[in-house]
Amino acid sequence: MSKKVLFAASEVYPFAKTGGLADVAHALPRALNAYDIEVIMPLYQSVDRDKYNIVSEDCFFDVLMGETQYRIEMYGCTHEGVKYRFVYHPMLCDREFLYGTPEAGYEDNALRFGLFSHTIYTLLRDDHYDIVHLNDWQCALTALLMHDDPTLSTKSLYTIHNLAYQGVFDPVYMDDLGINQSHFRMNEIEFYGQINLMKAGIAYSDCITTVSSTYAKEIMTPEFGCGLEGFLQLHRTKLSGIINGIDHEHFSPAHDTALNVVYNEPKGKKINKNALLKELGLKGTSKPLFAFIGRFVSQKGMDLLIETLPKMAELECTIALLGEGEEGYYDRLRKLEQYYPNLHLTYGYDESFSHRLYAAADFLLMPSLFEPCGLNQMIAFSYGAVPLVHRVGGLADTVKKFESFDPKSREGYGVVFNTPTPRSLLLAVRKGLDLYADKKRFELLVAHNMQCDFSWSESAKAYGALYETLIKEGKKCLN
Ligand code: ADP
Repeated sequence: MSKKVLFAASEVYPFAKTGGLADVAHALPRALNAYDIEVIMPLYQSVDRDKYNIVSEDCFFDVLMGETQYRIEMYGCTHEGVKYRFVYHPMLCDREFLYGTPEAGYEDNALRFGLFSHTIYTLLRDDHYDIVHLNDWQCALTALLMHDDPTLSTKSLYTIHNLAYQGVFDPVYMDDLGINQSHFRMNEIEFYGQINLMKAGIAYSDCITTVSSTYAKEIMTPEFGCGLEGFLQLHRTKLSGIINGIDHEHFSPAHDTALNVVYNEPKGKKINKNALLKELGLKGTSKPLFAFIGRFVSQKGMDLLIETLPKMAELECTIALLGEGEEGYYDRLRKLEQYYPNLHLTYGYDESFSHRLYAAADFLLMPSLFEPCGLNQMIAFSYGAVPLVHRVGGLADTVKKFESFDPKSREGYGVVFNTPTPRSLLLAVRKGLDLYADKKRFELLVAHNMQCDFSWSESAKAYGALYETLIKEGKKCLN
């Protein structure tokens, strides 16, 4: 009989998505098809129940968190062969956004996701699961609740998708979250006088992964550790990096219904590029199109990009940006857009438009200051856009310098720069322009990248191997 896994995430594509976690939570469980896997997430009000045939399981139960009883209703559906379970409680779900408005996170996020974590724990207690796979701070508290319950035999794996978001809250929430005060210690969940929920995931899970090997090393250093480098070093024997993949069914230009025309070789991009430039009112079909797709936040290198854009826009290229995020960045980008006719800004989150932009782009800009894994560069490879990246985290693991191009290798190539400064970024853009001008070389590189395999198959095997070790040996010490 196959082993039973509960895979918990606060967002899962196509039901709710703000970033890469949703893509991973969609694709990885599909790839782990040797397991009897259930994916669990909150039933946010934005989830389209009719479209995905999400129905009540007629399963109601009370979760006691602190002194308060919360009545939970479970919903479910099967989508693309995977079983999904949805947690419904008004406090957790009935909001316009997932985590907060563009200005700030919701004030009661500790309680909202505390309740999500307690509900996961309740399901583990009341049914048998071999493995629970917890993702990011929103379900990290489950690991602590499991630790406090010695009757539970389920093994836990905790995946850090982005260490910058740790779920840090005022300690007044300890009681309301039902956390025993004895856990408020530096080597548990206390963090500079606050509660840090991610620390619960790190301290109490049987095994920790993060989403690339380089990021796994980086987060144990002060530069990238966000204050948790020492704590992670303490738990280093159970920490490893497994690179994310992309779902080639969802991100394939050969089958993508969002595109103007589907294609499977570089030539096919042209019609998509011309159509997109026309749609955006950009001129210059023979010039390279540089795209940026992502959150307008400091992590993604927005300051670097905004400082470089004026000089970049003076060059022979067009630029299209798609994203949403901090208002300050948006205002600065809007000003630049008004000034430079070859720069276009689309504010918002638009899955279909993003696919058309990957298909149209010649280069995809990723000047991230840190990048746990990054999916955009792999999507870019698949759609034949050459990634232009800062060599950090998962970008360092997945994008090789085009100067060292080896057609026989199975690696993807792009323009890589080493220091996150406007000067280096501009230099990289100029290198990109030279590469683009060398038509034959450029097409060869694009054709090569489009054939590379960034699917989940290898990484899913690595997760499967960890599950098996945990089931057999309990705690995993990797080193
Ligand atoms: P993040 O740090 O945001 O999780 P990733 O690179 O891991 O970054 O994943 C980003 C995912 O979100 C990719 O699938 C990317 O195409 C998508 N994405 C980001 N911003 C937007 C947007 N504004 N509209 C559509 N898709 C977006």
